[in-house]
Amino acid sequence: MDMQNLPENPYILLTPGPLSTSRTVKAVMLRDWCTWDIDYNRIVEEIRNTLTRLATSETGYTTVLMQGSGTFSVEACLTTAVPEQGKLLVLANGAYGRRITRIAARQGIACVTHDSGDLDPPDLPRLAHTLETDTDITHVAVVHCETTTGFLNPIEEIGKIVRQSGRIFIVDAMSSFGGIPMDIADLGIDYLVSSANKCIQGVPGFGFVIARKSIFSQTCGRARSLSLDLYDQWKTMENGKGKWRYTSPTHVVRAFAKALEELEKEGGVTLRFKRYLANNRFLISGMKEMGFTPLVDIRYQSPIITAFLSPSHPDYNFEVFYTRLKERGFVIYPGKVTRTDTFRIGNIGDIHRPDMERLIEAVRSSIYWR
Ligand SMILES: *Cc1c(COP(=O)(O)O)cnc(C)c1O
Repeated sequence: MDMQNLPENPYILLTPGPLSTSRTVKAVMLRDWCTWDIDYNRIVEEIRNTLTRLATSETGYTTVLMQGSGTFSVEACLTTAVPEQGKLLVLANGAYGRRITRIAARQGIACVTHDSGDLDPPDLPRLAHTLETDTDITHVAVVHCETTTGFLNPIEEIGKIVRQSGRIFIVDAMSSFGGIPMDIADLGIDYLVSSANKCIQGVPGFGFVIARKSIFSQTCGRARSLSLDLYDQWKTMENGKGKWRYTSPTHVVRAFAKALEELEKEGGVTLRFKRYLANNRFLISGMKEMGFTPLVDIRYQSPIITAFLSPSHPDYNFEVFYTRLKERGFVIYPGKVTRTDTFRIGNIGDIHRPDMERLIEAVRSSIYWR
C-alpha cells in the first residue's frame, strides 16, 4: 500500500475521540469490503473474541458490536437490559452520567439518579442505603471515566456494593476501556459499553457491549427499539458467525481490527496505560508550571483527559487560545462543566512523549493574555 500518498494531518487531535489514529489504521480503509463475505465476517468474529479477552480472563462473557457512535451502544444496552418492570439507578457526576438518565427517560425506563455534582465521587453509603430500601431497583449504571472532567469513578467499590445487593451492574467505560487495565468479572460488571474511537484508537462508526452471558441471554424481546435491539444483534452475530443486522461500517471495522493489532504490538492494555499515564502526568506538570490549574483532584484524575480552569485574566478568550494552538498543530477541547469555565486536553490516541513536549511549547507560545 502506498503510504506516501496518504494526506498528512495538519494537526493532532487532543480530544477524547475521534482522536489521532496511526497512518496504518487509516490506510487499511483504502479497500472495500462486503458485509456478508466470509473474510469480513471472520474479522468481525476475531474482533469480538479479542474484545472479550481484553475485558476478562474469565469465560461467560460475550461481545456485541453496534453501529453508531458510543451513545447508540449505551442506549442499545439500556433498552435491551432493563425489562419493563425494571428500574435503573444512575450514579452521575458529569454530562455522560446525566445522558444515561436522559436515555432512560426517553425509553420509558423507570429511573432514579444520584447526582454528586461534577467534582465528587458517588456517595457510596447513600448507594448502599438506596439499594436496601428501594427494592424496585434492578440495575445500576455508572460512567467509569467521566470524560466531561476526566474524573475517574471508583468502579471497584461501586461494583462491590452493587454485587452484594444482587443488582445488575452497567458501566459506561467508553473512554477508559483499552486504556486502563481492568477485569470486568473481578469488578462485578454485567454490561460494559465502549466504542471504536477511544482507547483502542480506531476511527468512529460503531460501539460495543461486553455482556455476561447468563444475564444477557434473558433479554430476548425486551428492547423498546428495533435497530438498537442488542439481543437481536447478538443472535445475528452468533448465528451468522460475524454477520450484522443492517449495513455495518465495514471500513471502520477493518480499521478497528488493525487498531487492536497495534494495541497488542504496543504491549497490550498495561503498556498503553503506562504511556497514557506518563503523558498525562507530564502534561499536568508542564501546564502547572505555566500557571494552569487542573479542575479535578489528582486522586480522581484519569490518565485520559484533563480539564483545566480557564485563566481568569480578562483578555483570555477560549476561541483565540484554541486557534493559536491549532495553528501550532494541536486541537484541544472546550470545557463541558456547567459551573466552572474550563478547557480540556485529551492525551489518548496515537500520541507520544515528543508530541506532549511540543504541545507544552505550543501552549507556552500561545499564551497572549499576560
Ligand atoms: C465518548 C463518550 C460517550 C459516547 O459519546 P459519542 O459521542 O456518542 O460517541 C459516552 N460516554 C463517555 C464517558 C464518553 O467518553
